[in-house]
Amino acid sequence: SLPVVAIVGRPNVGKSTLFNRIAGERIAIVEDQPGITRDRIYSKGEWSGRSFHLIDTGGLEFGGDDEMVEYVRQQAELAIEEADVILFVVDGRTGVTATDEEVARHLRRSRKPVVLAVNKLDHQNHHKHAYEFYQLGIGEPIPVSSLHGTGTGDLLDEVVQKL
Ligand code: GDP
Ligand code: MG
Repeated sequence: SLPVVAIVGRPNVGKSTLFNRIAGERIAIVEDQPGITRDRIYSKGEWSGRSFHLIDTGGLEFGGDDEMVEYVRQQAELAIEEADVILFVVDGRTGVTATDEEVARHLRRSRKPVVLAVNKLDHQNHHKHAYEFYQLGIGEPIPVSSLHGTGTGDLLDEVVQKL
């Protein structure tokens, strides 16, 4: 069976947008507001002749900040169990948040291969905002714009290398 790549991260960072970009189809539901109920969505991705299953995590409802942290933690754990490689998405415009750090802690403990995508860096001169994400201890932050599709090739190079 195909290896599994799970897209993980707090709500609204652009996981579904990246999922659509990689899957090449408009499958995942992209919402301006976080908190929409939906199930994890599976698709097939392909890069450099390597095929893999792709999971867009996201789905359960959450309320306040504590619940959000709990939600993201559970979501990350589910994805970790199933995944061969984890694609951790953060928002390069907001910078590192406490929830990002929480997710990063869990991912580090999993000892699974993780690729770190710093999303929403739509312009080349914003790529420098990716550097602060080194502090998550995940490895090299890769600047991407899921909206424009820039940087996603470099990102997928890293992903298939770890499959
Ligand atoms: P998710 O909750 O992590 O799945 O995030 P979504 O994919 O639903 O995206 C949340 C919002 O961020 C939507 O309004 C997207 O259009 C926007 N978004 C996603 N990727 C990018 C990006 O690369 N650049 C910009 N400017 N906006 C983005
Ligand atoms: Mg989503």
